[in-house]
Amino acid sequence: MHLPIREEKVFKDPVHNYIHVQDDIIWRLINTPEFQRLRRIRQLGTSFLTFHGAEHSRFSHSLGVYEITRRIISQFERSGYSDWPKEERLLTLCAALLHDLGHGPFSHSIEETFHMNHEDWTCRIILGDTCVNEILQEVDSDFPAKVASVIDKTYKKPIVINLVTSPLDADRMDYLLRDAYYTGVNYGTIDIDRILRMLRPYRDRIVVKESGMHAVEDYLMSRYQMYWQVYFHPVTRSSEIILRKIFKRAKELYHGGYAFKFMVDPLPALFDGNPTVSQYLRLDEALIQTSFLQWTMEADEILSDLCGRFMHRRLYKYVEIDNIDMETIDRIRLAFQEAGLNPKYDFEIDYPTDLPYDVFHSGSPESNKQILLLDRHERVREISEVSDIVRSISGIHRGRYLLYFPEEKIMDVLHTLPIDIADMFRQSE
Ligand code: CA
Repeated sequence: MHLPIREEKVFKDPVHNYIHVQDDIIWRLINTPEFQRLRRIRQLGTSFLTFHGAEHSRFSHSLGVYEITRRIISQFERSGYSDWPKEERLLTLCAALLHDLGHGPFSHSIEETFHMNHEDWTCRIILGDTCVNEILQEVDSDFPAKVASVIDKTYKKPIVINLVTSPLDADRMDYLLRDAYYTGVNYGTIDIDRILRMLRPYRDRIVVKESGMHAVEDYLMSRYQMYWQVYFHPVTRSSEIILRKIFKRAKELYHGGYAFKFMVDPLPALFDGNPTVSQYLRLDEALIQTSFLQWTMEADEILSDLCGRFMHRRLYKYVEIDNIDMETIDRIRLAFQEAGLNPKYDFEIDYPTDLPYDVFHSGSPESNKQILLLDRHERVREISEVSDIVRSISGIHRGRYLLYFPEEKIMDVLHTLPIDIADMFRQSE
């Protein structure tokens, strides 16, 4: 049964000022252990090692996404738009609130090493034997499955999915504002109230009124800046590389029968590759960081060195290189081996498009990836057809190849490397 809350609850929020909770279900979902776990997962992974303010959690982001969604829906209801299916309000709010429930500690690095996907985990937690599931069941026995289908984008009404996942969705608007606020950069300051007023439901999706085009241009420019200044920051990439190498080394040691001095449940289940939902829910960044700190005292020198680097922020340096070919990589590997280094751990080549963040592509045929403008004559056009600014920034790849390495180790053997390879490592940042 779905009840309005007896008295509206509010959360004070630095980005949205107040977050308003008006439904009993939403209030109780927030108070589940599964949702509270998100307080112990940072929104921006290792970015706090680059921008020390970036300690904000997935908890605050999830509340923010819920709040933006709530405001959009109440604006639709106030305006009386008939294309918005009113009966989907609670479903949309629950999906918005819970969309990141399955994020693990340092998500993107862990997902890569252990072949996991946070969206799958979100659905498993929603559908599994959890408090979140129990509360959703009270609305209707098939309500958890409905919420999961919005999150995995199979729900039968595209407009609901569109509100939760699109280039101009509540998720992206909240993280842009929140990440800008907590990193302290000036790029993400968009006029969200204006954007929200310009959104409207049109047939089976959300469109922007043409008079809101400049606000959307502003938003896309801000995102573009955030990608290059924050999300693709080379120092953050360095810390992610170290993190991935730690997980890789620990996994390798675990499967090789190495006797860890420190190993806590549920890490073995993670290394074995199939944690249960309740084991997965016990993973958080506190547990991972405690493990890393303990592992700085492990006998395995590779693991202890990497953990020390991560915990005490002794990151890999990097140099920019031109496109690098496989042959050169093989030569570096060989030269490293001959110099007594470990090529698996002592260098890494990185190109930022590997990041799991999406950049806006105007040409994409999937309607969920486009921003559509609606003009006075009810004509719908994709924004880059109308906006020179959007056209000029869409589809641009400005990535650089960077070569990462532990500076002091390489400097020690630099004189033994072939001259052209040694040159690559000079003049690092
Ligand atoms: Ca999110």
